[in-house]
Amino acid sequence: MKAVRSTTPGRFGEFGGIYVPEILYTPVLELAHAFEEVRGDHAFQETLQRELTTFAGRPTPLTHAVRFGETIGLTRVYLKREDLLHTGAHKINNALGQALLARRMGKTRVVAETGAGQHGVASATACARVGLQCTVYMGEVDMERQRPNVERMKLLGAEVVPVASGSRTLKDAINEAMRDWSASVRTTHYLLGSVLGPHPYPTMVRDFQSVIGRETRVQIQKEAGRLPDLLVACVGGGSNAIGLFHEFLEDRAVQMVGVEAGGAGIRSGRHAARFAEPAVGVLHGTRTQVLQDSAGQIRSTHSISAGLDYPAVGPEHAALQASGRVRYESATDEEALRAFDLLARTEGILPALESSHALAYLARSGAARAVRSDALIVANLSGRGDKDLGVVLAARHDAALDSSGRG
Ligand SMILES: *Cc1c(COP(=O)(O)O)cnc(C)c1O
Repeated sequence: MKAVRSTTPGRFGEFGGIYVPEILYTPVLELAHAFEEVRGDHAFQETLQRELTTFAGRPTPLTHAVRFGETIGLTRVYLKREDLLHTGAHKINNALGQALLARRMGKTRVVAETGAGQHGVASATACARVGLQCTVYMGEVDMERQRPNVERMKLLGAEVVPVASGSRTLKDAINEAMRDWSASVRTTHYLLGSVLGPHPYPTMVRDFQSVIGRETRVQIQKEAGRLPDLLVACVGGGSNAIGLFHEFLEDRAVQMVGVEAGGAGIRSGRHAARFAEPAVGVLHGTRTQVLQDSAGQIRSTHSISAGLDYPAVGPEHAALQASGRVRYESATDEEALRAFDLLARTEGILPALESSHALAYLARSGAARAVRSDALIVANLSGRGDKDLGVVLAARHDAALDSSGRG
């Protein structure tokens, strides 16, 4: 979407801001204002906390992954279990927060975008719970790939609108959701799914996800008597990662690594690792690192995990990378699949393929002795892998064909 206007609120260094068409400028400022209000509103925070505990399943446990750790040469790996939340991932934290905010603002309807359908399902769930109409925009290609999630959203009472423009995937769905919002702002809230988009979304979504880090801090202190040495999380837009990291940013001794989708490998060009080929640009209302060609056109991305397959990264991550506070690495499709298998067999947990990227980074670091074997580590298990069974089985099948072909 073209930049029409930009101002300073919601800046993270040179990143972030508000780059929206004129018609959305006032609604975005109204939303920023409403968000500032509820930040300090005791009654709102109590209602949200109550929903998170009695509906979504918080607090989530911190699990010592003993056998997984031993296998990769790291003895103190803990998993923050966002996979155990209602709807199977961290996205419900943000969806509930924004749905409650929308209701408080007097809105009766929500629009959302979805790629793989995970944010669409979380939004439809939160809207059903809170009593709001829900319209989800989804690319036709994604609808075809993610049938069960389309059916889930419909069962939850949401309307799913197919998007036939562009590549018919997530970025086109975001364009359509923004277009709808432009025409319906009086009644409608746009429920954005990650720490992306114009201010206040990156800050607001981070706030709603920071519950992950706040719980982790208390839990690891109780378990180990001190703060962790290392935090690891996968980075799509970056909401589960910033949700874990934010609470620890001031603790200089706590190292942090965000893991992007290395796809078929950085050199192949088929990946979604924005920091591997950094280039600043504006996409969907914010200034950040964007995968683009030399003419500034958005590049097509690839990852085995739909949740990491997006050409831009949250602006706060761009700033944290620039300042050196957080390191960003990538893991390939193949590494993520191996980590998926390993966690399943050593711990009895099927991780989401997104989360498997964080585990893959740990496995690689453990094997290379790049991390001390007794380092106290927390990895964010952002979601469960049941949704990925089809993809995992298909990848196995292809690998088997490859090896028999070669051999
Ligand atoms: C959507 C999703 C992600 C990626 O989104 P972030 O905003 O980067 O957290 C990661 N893990 C799971 C399980 C997801 O569903």
